Amino acid sequence: MTDRIIIKNGTVITMNDADDVLFGGTVVIEGDRITQVGEDVTVDETGATVIDATDQAVMPGLVDLHFHTAIGKGWSDHLPLWEYLDTCWYPIIRALSPEEAYWAALASYSESLKCGVTTVNDMYRRLDGLAKAAEEIGIRAVLSNDVADDEHDLDTLEDNRIAYEQSNGAANGRIEVYIGIEWLPLASEALLSDARRLADDLNTGIHIHLNESLTEVENSKERFGRRPTEVAYDCGILFDRCIAAHCVWLSDKEIALMRETGTQISHNPSSNAKLGNGIARVPEMLAAGINVGLGHDAAECNNSRDLFEVMKFASLMHRASRVDPSLQQAPDVVRMATRNGSAALGHETGQLTAGTKADVILIDLNSQMFTPLFPGSKAHLYSHLVFAANGSAVNTTIVDGRIVYRNREFTTIDEGKVLAEANEAFRHVLDRMVVPT
Ligand SMILES: [Zn+2]
Repeated sequence: MTDRIIIKNGTVITMNDADDVLFGGTVVIEGDRITQVGEDVTVDETGATVIDATDQAVMPGLVDLHFHTAIGKGWSDHLPLWEYLDTCWYPIIRALSPEEAYWAALASYSESLKCGVTTVNDMYRRLDGLAKAAEEIGIRAVLSNDVADDEHDLDTLEDNRIAYEQSNGAANGRIEVYIGIEWLPLASEALLSDARRLADDLNTGIHIHLNESLTEVENSKERFGRRPTEVAYDCGILFDRCIAAHCVWLSDKEIALMRETGTQISHNPSSNAKLGNGIARVPEMLAAGINVGLGHDAAECNNSRDLFEVMKFASLMHRASRVDPSLQQAPDVVRMATRNGSAALGHETGQLTAGTKADVILIDLNSQMFTPLFPGSKAHLYSHLVFAANGSAVNTTIVDGRIVYRNREFTTIDEGKVLAEANEAFRHVLDRMVVPT
C-alpha cells in the first residue's frame, strides 16, 4: 500500500495559479505526489501519517537555484571574488576527496533542509559523493561538475558525462545531473560549444556563472572581444535548460539575449553583496519576461544557506538602491523562491496542487516572527515570510513524499555525526591543499 501523509488544519499557501491561501486547509500526499488540496477534504485517515498543522503554514518547499556544497565557510572571506577563488576556493576543491565531498554535502544539505529548502541546484566536484549524500538525506538535487579548461585542473566534460551516467535519475528521479561550467575566465569558446553539445547528447541542462563581477566582464572583453553573455550566446550555452547564476552586470543587449533564448536566471543577492559584486538588474529582467529564481550561492560567500534570508535581500537591496519600496513585493519574492526556481529546473514542484510532487514544508506561526498575524490576511502572511521570518521557523520538511525533518529533528541522518565529520573533512582538506604562490 502506498504511504499516505495527511496534513490538516493548516494555513495552506498553495502558490497555485490563483495564488490561493486556505485558512484551515488539508493537503493529502500519496507516495511521492500530492493528491488532494482543499478546505473541505474528507479523507480516510486509516493507516496514514496524520500531521495536525494547527498554527502552522503549509507551503511548497523552497528551491535554491544556485548552490554549491561548501566545506570552508568563513575562511579568508575578506577577499574579493577573484583573489578568493585563486587562493581559497580552487585549492580547496582541488584537494577534495569523494569522502570529504560526501560529508561536506551532508552538512550543507542538512542546513538547507532545516531552513525549508527541498531542492538544490548544486555545482561542485566529486559528484559520486554528492549523489550518495543527497540520496541518504532525502533532498532533491540537481548536480553538476565544476568544468573548466584542462590547464586549471578542475573537472572536465568527461568527468561530467561519467557523473551523468552514474547518478542521473537516481533515487526515484530525485537526483539529476546537469553540465556545469565554472565561468568564462576559465573557459575557451571551444569548451563552451562542447558543453552545449554534451548537454544535447545527454538531454540535460547547463549550470553556469555569468556576468558575476566587473572583473569577469573586463576579462571577457579582453579575451573574446565581447561581453560574457554575448560569448555564451554565440557558443550555444543559452537556452531554456540553462541556469545562469548571478547575471549582475548585464547590458540591455545581454538581457535581450537571455529573453530571446528563454535562459533561466538565479538571482543571488546576499552573495553578490558580501563579495562586493554589485546588484543585479532584476526589475529589468522581470520586465523583459525572464524567469528569475533565487539562490544562496555557497556558504563560503554568503555565509548562510537560509533562503528566507535570501528572500529578504532579494527585496530590500532593490528597494534601497532604487529608492523605491514598490519593488519586489513579498508575494512575488516567495514565488521566486518556489515556483520560479522549480520552473527553471523543469520540476513538478513549487506549488501545492493535486498531481504535483510532494515537496512540502511546515512553518510555525505561533512565534514572535509571525506576531501579530491578522486572521485570514494573505498579505500579512507573505510579509512575515519575506521580511520577518528566518529558516528557524521551519518545523517539518517533506521531500518526494518522505518526511526527512519532523519537529526540528532529522529522520534520515545523525546530525551531530554529520557536523563532526564535516569539521574533520575541512581539516584534512586544509592539510592537503596547495595554495599558489
Ligand atoms: Zn556560485
